[in-house]
Amino acid sequence: MSKLAESSKLKRWVTAREMALMGYVTRIIILETGLTDKQIRRLYRELEEEGLKAAINRTTRTLRSGATLLGNQLAKLHASALMQFYREVGGDAIMTTTCVTYLNRAYRMYHALLCEMEQVDPNIRNVTFTISDAWCLASELRSGDAMFETCRSCHCDFFTSIHQSTGIDCPFCYEPHNKIKTDSTGKPTVSEAKEGLCGSVPVEGRDDASIIAMEAEFEFG
Ligand SMILES: [Zn+2]
Repeated sequence: MSKLAESSKLKRWVTAREMALMGYVTRIIILETGLTDKQIRRLYRELEEEGLKAAINRTTRTLRSGATLLGNQLAKLHASALMQFYREVGGDAIMTTTCVTYLNRAYRMYHALLCEMEQVDPNIRNVTFTISDAWCLASELRSGDAMFETCRSCHCDFFTSIHQSTGIDCPFCYEPHNKIKTDSTGKPTVSEAKEGLCGSVPVEGRDDASIIAMEAEFEFG
């Protein structure tokens, strides 16, 4: 084997190893590295022998798309945060290729953000994307099925997909129709709020501060 072929093989192996440890589903590792099913199984065995658990971060085996990932306002907030990080670290390159290194870095930033946000609003974890979900969104961005749009009202950039199953455009300033209204004493005048940011979680469970904090996170230096 030539030196070049050997180095390319090693590079693919290193990428696959990193991806396995990050928790990517096998299908994506195969797509990104070109390794075979058999080679990936060998990789998992090797990692296990080293005492490393490839599956520890892999909470799902399924590949999802914008149709299932972007189903409500909270999911769009998550996707917007995650993909904004990806755009910040990856620059224009992410529009033409899916870059695993940048995606991994963005995903770590996304988790750091969730840890912070959790202190303000524990409901933020009602949606949490996996690294494979992140890859699927990145892949839709690359193919042009997903894009960033700038809200005409709040001027924030948000992530959107042509496959999304929600009609919500900007997740930052969208107000659910059945948002709990309060009277002059601050008491809710509507007792039920079934939809909204967190599905079954009442809308008043989240305060605007958490959304503002998330927007602030987007302001990179
Ligand atoms: Zn907006």
